[in-house]
Amino acid sequence: MRGAAPTYSRIQRFRLPRLCVAITGSEPADLLQRAESLVRDNPFLEFRLDYFSQPAAAFPKLRHFLELHPEATVVATCRRAVNGGKFKGSIQSQLDILLKAAASGFQLVDIELQSAQELKTDHYTDLRNRVGVILSFHDFKATRKLEETFAGMRELPADFYKVVTTATNLYDNVTMMKFLQTHSGGHEMVGLCMGEQGIISRVLGVRAGSVFTFASVAPGEETAPGQVSVSELRDTYRIEMVEASTQVYGVAGDPVAHSLSPVMMNAAFRRETVNAVYLGLHAKNLKDLLACVNDIPIRGMSITMPYKEEVVEALSNSDALTKQIGACNTVVRGQDGKLYGFNTDVAGIVTPLEQRMALDSKRILVVGAGGAARAAVFGLKARNAEVFVTNRTPETAQSLARQAKAKYVKRNDLPKLSFDVIINATPLGMNGNRQSPLDEKELNTSYVFDLVYTPAETKLMKMAKAKGLHVIPGLEMFVQQGARQFEIWTGKPAPVAEMAYVVSKALDLRTTENVAERHESEEIAEEKPEKPAKSARKVVAARPKRVVAKVAKSAKKSARR
Ligand code: NAP
Repeated sequence: MRGAAPTYSRIQRFRLPRLCVAITGSEPADLLQRAESLVRDNPFLEFRLDYFSQPAAAFPKLRHFLELHPEATVVATCRRAVNGGKFKGSIQSQLDILLKAAASGFQLVDIELQSAQELKTDHYTDLRNRVGVILSFHDFKATRKLEETFAGMRELPADFYKVVTTATNLYDNVTMMKFLQTHSGGHEMVGLCMGEQGIISRVLGVRAGSVFTFASVAPGEETAPGQVSVSELRDTYRIEMVEASTQVYGVAGDPVAHSLSPVMMNAAFRRETVNAVYLGLHAKNLKDLLACVNDIPIRGMSITMPYKEEVVEALSNSDALTKQIGACNTVVRGQDGKLYGFNTDVAGIVTPLEQRMALDSKRILVVGAGGAARAAVFGLKARNAEVFVTNRTPETAQSLARQAKAKYVKRNDLPKLSFDVIINATPLGMNGNRQSPLDEKELNTSYVFDLVYTPAETKLMKMAKAKGLHVIPGLEMFVQQGARQFEIWTGKPAPVAEMAYVVSKALDLRTTENVAERHESEEIAEEKPEKPAKSARKVVAARPKRVVAKVAKSAKKSARR
C-alpha cells in the first residue's frame, strides 16, 4: 500500500516536475478541493497542513486523496509559527504530524532547520528513514549569510536543501542564483527569493540549479510573499522551457508591478517561438539594475519611470531621437556586451497616427511636456507635422517648443484654435483619476489620441466619442512601442495582433476587477451601520467575514498590479 512501507525511495530530481504548487485551506475539504482541480495538470503539490486548525485530524481524508492519485508527488509542510508558518504546537507535535504524513503516503515532508536542529538525532534519522526530507530555511527579511546558513544545514542529511530568502533589491536574485550554481552539483538544492523583487529567482532559479520552485494556486492564494501563480509561471513565463540558452529581457522601473509588458512581451516571444523570457525588474535604483544586467546577463530592457532619463548616461550609445528627447525606453545589449539605447515611444505615437493619416503638415496639439510629450513632439516634427504644445507648467512647454521648433500654446487660447489631432500626454484620466486634461469646448479636432491606457476608456475618450470625434486609445501606443522593442531585440517582425489581443484581454480583466472592487465598496457602504464609522478601516472591520475577505482579496490584486 502506498506510503505504508517505511523503505522510502529517495526522490530523484529527474522525476520531479519543476513546479510545486503550494495549497492551503482552513479545512482539509477546502485544500483537497483545490488539489483535485490541480492535480491532473500539476502532479507536484505541497499541502500546508499548518493552515488547518487540527492538522492531525486531517489524515484520513489526505490519505484517501493520495491513494486516489498515485501519480501525485505531495509534500507535507507543517511549519511552526515561530518559523513563519501557522502551526502553534511544539516541535514534538510537529514531528508527530510529519510522521503521520509519512505513514499516510506523502513522499516528502518539509521541516525547518530550526526544528530539525532541536530534534534528537535518532528522531530526525527515523523521520528520514520513513520519508523524503526537505530541510528548509526561510529568511523573511533579507538575502544574507547564505554560505553560513548552508554550512549549518549540511550538518544534517536531507534529500533536498531549501533556502528561501527575501529580495530587498534586484541583485539579491543574482546572489541566490550564484549560491545555487555553487552547490547544486553536490546537493539537491531548492532556492528562491521572496518578495516582489524576487521574481527573477522564481523564474530563473531552475536554470541556476534549483530542482524545483513553488507556485501559488491562483493570484490571492500565495503562501509566501511574491509567490507567482501556477498559470502565470506556466503560461506567461513558460518556466518549463527556461534553460541556459534562454535570453532574459525585462521591464525595469519603480514600480513595475502594474506593468502589462510581461504579459505582452512573453506572448510575443511565445508566438514567434523565441527562446526568451521577459520579467518585471523592480529596481529601487539604477545601480542595482545595471549590476543585474551584467551578471544575469539581461539581453534587453524596456525602461519605464523613473529611469528613462537617468539611464541615458549609462549607455554606450543611443539613436538620434533618444539623444534629442533625452529619454530612452529601450535598451539592448550588443554582442560586445555594451548597452545601446532607443526610444520606441516615438514609434508608439507616430505609427497609430500614420495608420490613419499622412502626418505631413497636420496640425497636432500635444498636451503635456514630460517624457511621453517629448517623444510625441520630436517624433511628429520629424514627420513634418505642425506641432503645438501646451502644459500645466507653461515654462516646460515653452522650453520643449523651443528645442523642437514647435509652437507653444496657452491653455486659454485653445477654444479659438482647431487641430487635426489632440494628444493627451499627461496622466490625467489614469487609473482612479477620473479627470480630463481638456474640456469639451477645447476639443476642436478630428482625432483624440489619449496616451493613457489604464483604464481602456478614459473620461477624455468618452467625451471625444460623445462629440463624434475619432478616438485612438493609449493601448495602441503601448502595443506599437512594444512591437518596435520586439523587433529591435529579435530582428523579427512583431506579432502585433497577438500583442494587442493579450493586452486588451488583461485590461478587460482589470476593468472587471475594478468594477467588482467598486461594487464591493458599495456593498460595504450599504451595509454600514446608521451611525457612520470613524474610519474606513473600522467600517471594514465591522463587516461580516465574507465581505472583508473579498475586499482583502481585491486589495491584494490591486497591490499586485
Ligand atoms: P511625465 O514625464 O511625468 O510628464 C507628465 C506630464 O503631465 C507633465 O507635463 C505634467 O505637467 C503633466 N501633468 C501631470 N499631472 C498633471 C495634472 N494634474 N494636470 C495637468 N497636467 C499634469 O510623464 P510621461 O512619462 O510623459 O507620461 C505621461 C502619461 O503618458 C503617463 O501617465 C501615461 O499614462 C502615458 N504614457 C503612455 C504610454 C503608452 O504606452 N500608452 C507610454 C508612456 C506614457 P507639469 O510639467 O506641470 O508637471
